[in-house]
Amino acid sequence: MSQHRSPSPLAGLNRLYSRLGSDPDTNIALIVGATAALLHGACALFNRLDHEDRSLCTWSAANAPDDLPERDEPEGHICFEATIKGQDKPVVIPDIQDTHYAQTDPNVARYGLRSYLGYPVRLRDRAIGALCIVGLEPRDFSEDEVDLISTLAKAVSLEEERKLITDQFRTSQDMVSQMQRLATIGGWTMDPETRSVTSTGELDRILDIPPTEGLTDAETFFSMCVSSRDRRKAQAALHKILSDPAPQTLEVRIRTRANAEKWVRITGQSRFENGRPAVVLGSLQDISAYKEIEAKLKEAKEAAEQANRAKSQFLANMSHEVRTPLNGVLGMLQLALRTDLSEEQKEYVEIGLHSCRGLLTVINDLLDLSKIEAGKLTLAEEPLRLADIIGSVCRGISHQATEQGVQLSYAVDSRIPESLLGDGARLNQILFNLVGNAVKFTPGGSIRLDVSPVFRTRTQARVLITVEDTGVGIPDEALDRIFEPFEQGSAPLANKVRGTGLGLGIVRKLVELMGGTLSIKSEQDKGTTVYVSIPFKVDEAGLLDVSEAAREKAGNMRLLLVEDDPVNQAATKAFLEKIGNVVDTAENGVEALEAARANRYDVIFMDLEMPEMDGIETTRRIRETQGMPTPTDTPIIAVTAYAFAADRKRCLEAGMDAFVPKPVDFKELEQVLTTIRKNARR
Ligand code: ADP
Repeated sequence: MSQHRSPSPLAGLNRLYSRLGSDPDTNIALIVGATAALLHGACALFNRLDHEDRSLCTWSAANAPDDLPERDEPEGHICFEATIKGQDKPVVIPDIQDTHYAQTDPNVARYGLRSYLGYPVRLRDRAIGALCIVGLEPRDFSEDEVDLISTLAKAVSLEEERKLITDQFRTSQDMVSQMQRLATIGGWTMDPETRSVTSTGELDRILDIPPTEGLTDAETFFSMCVSSRDRRKAQAALHKILSDPAPQTLEVRIRTRANAEKWVRITGQSRFENGRPAVVLGSLQDISAYKEIEAKLKEAKEAAEQANRAKSQFLANMSHEVRTPLNGVLGMLQLALRTDLSEEQKEYVEIGLHSCRGLLTVINDLLDLSKIEAGKLTLAEEPLRLADIIGSVCRGISHQATEQGVQLSYAVDSRIPESLLGDGARLNQILFNLVGNAVKFTPGGSIRLDVSPVFRTRTQARVLITVEDTGVGIPDEALDRIFEPFEQGSAPLANKVRGTGLGLGIVRKLVELMGGTLSIKSEQDKGTTVYVSIPFKVDEAGLLDVSEAAREKAGNMRLLLVEDDPVNQAATKAFLEKIGNVVDTAENGVEALEAARANRYDVIFMDLEMPEMDGIETTRRIRETQGMPTPTDTPIIAVTAYAFAADRKRCLEAGMDAFVPKPVDFKELEQVLTTIRKNARR
């Protein structure tokens, strides 16, 4: 260790500051060197705790002996015990031999140290090290010398602070690049005057431009656009960015330097100063993967929609095709029931009929579903008696309920208007499903159907229908799904038909189409209550009383039955004859017109879908042709599998008088004839 002669402290400090540069570690070495020179220390040291504060290391030293250990345990060292722990004040030790550090600090004995002057180096709010000078002789330090080491230690503190800020800046810069890379987003700035561009590494990577070159100007980017349309789009966007302070975004296809085609999304915004764009800042994102997924999704969606349309069409076609032969079977079975049968035969036929009707329900459900999904279902608005519908639904199901030992009851509040306007057939379907489900899922106990008014005005009535059972209930987790087509909750009771899982979905859609709402309350093993609230118009004209007419006979007429399906034709003809009528048949519209020209018919039953000439056209011709034996106003009854409102409207517009849905219910046929007879007599 050697003594140094030094210049005056002020001149020394000036010289030091003029030499400090931008690298904190170099600066620290310069400060430590200046400390040794200015304070005449045998040796100057900056001892710093390492990051975990576990060791004390010599970060920088001037005139230090070669064998000075690089790091040591902090305990015992003057720097640690006196200076660092001493916090924000100088430590002045004229003779170390007078202190316990002579024993605790290993360097004291090793190097024969006698004097010590130190000051803590701080980083933010704590001391992290000590700047000190040591000497080999006892020494009294002047106040100036103490001030000087404090100043120099603070200069080291500033360098430490600078190092920390530089580190943090570098870390956040690394993070930004990393994030840009992960998000495939690059950044750019542009000078609005020269259109020169600076770009981030990620932007250059997306464009496959070498980082040494970088994207230099807007023109280079425009030249990468795949089509002239893309280029015009990009140029127009830049124009807008330069004139409008709002951010602009566009998506264009580009061909990169490496000839790869990519989709990029560019966002840019100008910063305006004094009404002029001063600088443009923006981002550029590689969205090729996203575009690819978007295209695939679109394709998949189109395929799914196409499949769904095909499914609906298939369901509609199938349902229709299956209904026609089923009509034949139903007709024949009904007819067979009216012949002389043994008890055993009667039972078989009845079971056959029951199964046919079950099958028909499933087919109707499928047809309904496809119609609802295609938005093609329209509702009728015709007079209906709620009490009659409820009564008939309960009567229809009571047999099954009784068999199960379930008590089925219903009540209709007397404040409900006698006659309402709505779609009776659909309401029937809704109630039949709900009460049917209640029976299906109630092993014993009771089912109750209540109808009460929610509100009523002169023209409107909102009705609440409640179907309550004491059955198995629906688990909470199944409540949402049971309205989805084909979804089912708990298994139905033993020995019961499983069902299709279509019912509730259709019911809810029908209720919604009627402008109503449906909700379910259910508790497992306790029971289920379904609430349906539907608005109706009040039928002010009231209903025709048909009960008297029902007693009239429906025979003794000459009828023409126009029907192309031989089985349906035979069954219906046989029935009409059985109740005392003379029946002629025609297989299509042309034959029907010929028959009407040759004979006088009291009533014509007209199928709608027929070869040659369909039912609508035939009706129109009959209505228009004067002078035939059959008068132009002969009642014409449509008989068709298209059973809903829109079809009825079509028939009535063509001049038909009434409507009988297929499969033909002979009772209904009889009733229509009875009404016609009654009206004819008036
Ligand atoms: P399906 O009766 O043909 O299975 P639905 O759509 O009518 O189809 O009903 C769906 C499911 O909802 C049924 O499978 C059943 O699990 C449940 N569910 C409907 N009504 C009731 C009820 N009253 N009690 C218990 N569960 C019911």
